[in-house]
Amino acid sequence: MRVPSLPRGLAAGAARGAGWLSLRLGRGGGTTLPGLVLTRLRPEATAEMARAVPGGVILLSGTNGKTTTARLVRAVLDASGAKVVANTAGSNLERGVASALLGVDGADVALFEADEAALPGLISQTRPRAVALMNLFRDQLDRYGELENLVERWREAIAALDPATTVVYNADDPAVAEVAAGHPNTVSYGIEDLRVGRDRLAHAADATDCRRCGAPLHYDMVTIAHLGRWSCPGCGLARPQPDVGATRVELHGMDGQRLAMATPQGPIELSLRLPGMHNAYNAIAATAAALALGLAPESIGTALARRQAAFGRSERTNIGGARVTTLLAKNPAGANENIRTMLLEGGPLHLVVLLNDRTADGQDVSWIWDVDYELLLHRDRLASLTVAGDRAHDMALRFRYAGFDPDAMSVVPTVSAALDAGLAACGAGDLYVLPTYTALLELQAVLAGRGLAPAFWEDQ
Ligand SMILES: [Zn+2]
Repeated sequence: MRVPSLPRGLAAGAARGAGWLSLRLGRGGGTTLPGLVLTRLRPEATAEMARAVPGGVILLSGTNGKTTTARLVRAVLDASGAKVVANTAGSNLERGVASALLGVDGADVALFEADEAALPGLISQTRPRAVALMNLFRDQLDRYGELENLVERWREAIAALDPATTVVYNADDPAVAEVAAGHPNTVSYGIEDLRVGRDRLAHAADATDCRRCGAPLHYDMVTIAHLGRWSCPGCGLARPQPDVGATRVELHGMDGQRLAMATPQGPIELSLRLPGMHNAYNAIAATAAALALGLAPESIGTALARRQAAFGRSERTNIGGARVTTLLAKNPAGANENIRTMLLEGGPLHLVVLLNDRTADGQDVSWIWDVDYELLLHRDRLASLTVAGDRAHDMALRFRYAGFDPDAMSVVPTVSAALDAGLAACGAGDLYVLPTYTALLELQAVLAGRGLAPAFWEDQ
């Protein structure tokens, strides 16, 4: 039976009421429930609210980095004086977007991070002014099926876009570049500094075949997983020359990095407090998106330098005398970047690894076998290891195979106990916590309970 759509005001009132009730009942901040109620009562509500935003909608999507990149673009928009409506991490399906639109009156511009699988639906609902396609890594295959399927759905969505929509895309990702290639209005970005890459793929799992002729791609340089300077020896298809290219990437361990970029609007230099190559990509993506929106190049460096990491994506918290760094690790590409970044730091490494297998994490945890945990054992850098989470024993087994002494490892039942064990082991030093997504939420709850961090839904 088709339920008739409720009038707009009535549907919005009911949805706001549901959000208010959810907050009162202590069920969280209501970042998705109002949107869920609204889109059930009035399916066209998201499209209507999106059309009412005068500066249009910007969508950002990719397996890794969309939350951080959205925050960086947000920083530039805020600095320009625009009133921005945005969704929070974990609310990146249509219901989260609808909740955000419902919660803000009179926004000038809307900026949404979109779940990779939800992107095609959000494109047709919001008719965006710009779409940023960041990357597609192997992630949560049990949830999405084949990566190939996702690429096809993105391709169809981009082919159906209004030609006036700007597609910002990562030229270093062969699948993303191919999806964007046919669109008439694009801004591409990539890393041009050959000194920061490797000359070969790290894993068989990262190998990519040419999407046109099927031949294995050749790489002059690999940056992360299958990203880099690629070309096809079979048919000549090659990475497009990026419009916004990082000509110099200087990584300074956990302290951050400096970037120099060539852009159509002239050179831009950035000093970032975010560590690692993955954040270099996030900053370059944010710069390309900001330029595509017509924001002033000279404002971009200043705005981005001020921006702190999104919580859990390389945040540092002082607890007692220890410095705790949280690095979200939910797939091989992200976890390997975290490990490379940690290894840039000197001294012994104290590590807490939290592995959950809930829906939002992906229920297949076999990805941990594609992570180079072995690198942590070189020169006995790994001084202590605590594991917890639903699949703590899988993680313990993984480290055992990596060669870590099982007697030196602590397997504990809760996130709270893991934090305490890690703090006890590191003394007044550095502790690194690598949680999956739902484990990160648990960690935030533990920290909030100790008065140490804001609850997740308060985090804008
Ligand atoms: Zn080819």
